Amino acid sequence: MEFDLNNLLRQNIKRLIPYSSARDEYKGKDGIFLDANENTNGAPISFDKDYQINLNRYPDPLQLELKEKLGKIKGLAIENIFLGNGSDEAIDILIRAFCYPTKENIIVCPPTYGMYEISAKINDVEVLKVPLTQDTFQLDTEGILKTINENTKLIFLCCPNNPTGNGVKWDAIKLILDSFNGIVVIDEAYINFASYRSLIPELLNYPNLVILQTLSKAWGLAGLRVGAAFASQQIIDVFNKIKPPYNINSVSQQIAIKALDNLGQVNTWIKEIVAQRNLLSDEISKLPFILKVYPSDANFILVKTNNPSGIYQYLAENKIIIRNRSSVLLCEGCLRITIGTIEENKTLLNALKNYNQ
Ligand SMILES: *Cc1c(COP(=O)(O)O)cnc(C)c1O
Repeated sequence: MEFDLNNLLRQNIKRLIPYSSARDEYKGKDGIFLDANENTNGAPISFDKDYQINLNRYPDPLQLELKEKLGKIKGLAIENIFLGNGSDEAIDILIRAFCYPTKENIIVCPPTYGMYEISAKINDVEVLKVPLTQDTFQLDTEGILKTINENTKLIFLCCPNNPTGNGVKWDAIKLILDSFNGIVVIDEAYINFASYRSLIPELLNYPNLVILQTLSKAWGLAGLRVGAAFASQQIIDVFNKIKPPYNINSVSQQIAIKALDNLGQVNTWIKEIVAQRNLLSDEISKLPFILKVYPSDANFILVKTNNPSGIYQYLAENKIIIRNRSSVLLCEGCLRITIGTIEENKTLLNALKNYNQ
């Protein structure tokens, strides 16, 4: 069977006539705007003159200026970009667009990012789990292909994966893209820290591929809530149909537009974080109570220890907060540590060296 987007969509979504906002109907910039019930006097607060933000006006529903800028960096047309209130919004829209509650399902490969499962459960969509391989955290492709049934609509793969930090092999992703007629979502939240490239060029080969990225990690804008989905125009049209009309506020749009000018700064940080990650991995692996530091392509490392709770508590007492992942499937004994600044990493390492088991 061929990939057929219209067949894959929920019928109510296919039939939906989306909300049309005032900004959708009239796109000109000059004039007296009396079409959106805004307060035309202004807002009781204003921004620095560097920012052209009129808070009394609704934001651009399609974020065209921001998409144009991001598109230039990513080598993508505006038509292939959806922007969400974090990539979490993109995950939720995918599930609502394609899966009938109580009837259809998604596949996830734990241990992985929790929001795929939570979003599915909120929407009463079944979650089928095919765990990654033990210790190497690679895809069990045979298991995935066996688990796919006629009600499977989406497969979520995270690369580099959270919380394991590693990438999954392209051969395995390709096999799934080639064999599955539903949508394959590749979450690339950590791609900027990886030793391999984004799968964006593969969008030309796979109409069933959706790639998620975000400004929350390498770009240092987690507080702004801007995430992206990249896909065929056909799929992006579905996102635009379902999203709330003004899903990214004017402040976030304008700040993101300005931040994207600072690609140089971000690339410098990425290099430093990767260097620190490698250094920290080496140093931490020498400690006697560390059983293993897993290889990472992200801005964090997963570390196996003989006493996860004890180390977690000890660091917390020293005001260093990490994530205890030891109760997560296949992560027994594991702690997840975000790579900090050079100073923060030194402090962490010193604290660990002074840990008495
Ligand atoms: C942090 C993270 C995200 C980012 O979500 P936002 O909503 O864009 O902040 C997405 N996927 C994974 C795997 C993450 O770890």
